[in-house]
Amino acid sequence: MKAMVLNEIAPIDTSPLKPTDRDAPVPGEGEVRLKVRACAICRTDLHVIEGELPRQKLPIIPGHQVVGVVEAEGSGCRRGLRGKRVGVAWLRHTCGRCHYCEAGQENLCEQPRFTGYHADGGYAEYAVAPEDFVYELPDAFSDVEAAPLLCAGIVGYRAFRRSRPRDGATLAIYGFGSSAHVIIQIALHRGMTVHVVTRGDRHRRLAREMGAAWAGGSAADMPESVDSAVIYAPAGELVPQALRKLNKGGTLSLAGIWMTPIPELDYEKHVFYERDIRSTTANTRQDGRELLAEAAEIPIRPHTTTYPLAEANRALQDLKADRINGTGVLVMD
Ligand SMILES: [Zn+2]
Ligand SMILES: [Zn+2]
Repeated sequence: MKAMVLNEIAPIDTSPLKPTDRDAPVPGEGEVRLKVRACAICRTDLHVIEGELPRQKLPIIPGHQVVGVVEAEGSGCRRGLRGKRVGVAWLRHTCGRCHYCEAGQENLCEQPRFTGYHADGGYAEYAVAPEDFVYELPDAFSDVEAAPLLCAGIVGYRAFRRSRPRDGATLAIYGFGSSAHVIIQIALHRGMTVHVVTRGDRHRRLAREMGAAWAGGSAADMPESVDSAVIYAPAGELVPQALRKLNKGGTLSLAGIWMTPIPELDYEKHVFYERDIRSTTANTRQDGRELLAEAAEIPIRPHTTTYPLAEANRALQDLKADRINGTGVLVMD
């Protein structure tokens, strides 16, 4: 099979993903093999490739928003997924035994494993994954539309729900990348009024086109304070700005896997009056199933830009330089 393989941690500008011919992986016990059709790219892929995340397996095939059709099952598979279209996401294993797993908080598992980081992912023509961690995909989405839902969508959805959104209430979204452009559609469908703070004219235009009541470059200019807010940009300096635009009793949710330092907060100005700050760590499988169901019912339409598999380096360079509207998706053929 053809795969884009990372042999050494390196800046994306040096095109470190190398086109490589490999044997297709053989599914182990409880694993399925997918013929990959599409794989969306994610900022976390950049963190793996450029080494912001501690180095794990090398060489590695990145990619954790994988859409494909199951064409082989290892021993012990029970779900009968052969021939079905499924998605593989970032979370690919939890221990099932730790305090957190037992409490239904498997996103906080002490020994998790992740796709495209601890094990090969979807920048390839074939991929294997534990069947317990793949999602059956609703027919409402094409392959390319389904791919961004698997990380941008699921993790974005968990962060959105951690902001305690109420139907018909107000929401502020900070940063307008892959997650935000999925979540705005869900929030609007729930009757929320959505304000978007983001850098760059193109992103503000897209936010308005998609139904934002207001889109601007600075929280201070936002026409009203809001009940819920989600920061999707990895920029800690947004935290005090977002808190100043939060109603009493409001909740600010931080979506990032990584964020620059948060400046000093003033208790009276930023936190008092029961304003909550909550972080988000990955997702549970339940989050994934619920996001896919709600997204299919609406149905939401992710904005995508496609690239051939062989151009994975260019796609990630475009992501890093903020040149993609919506989500970049690698397609196989
Ligand atoms: Zn666990
Ligand atoms: Zn991701």
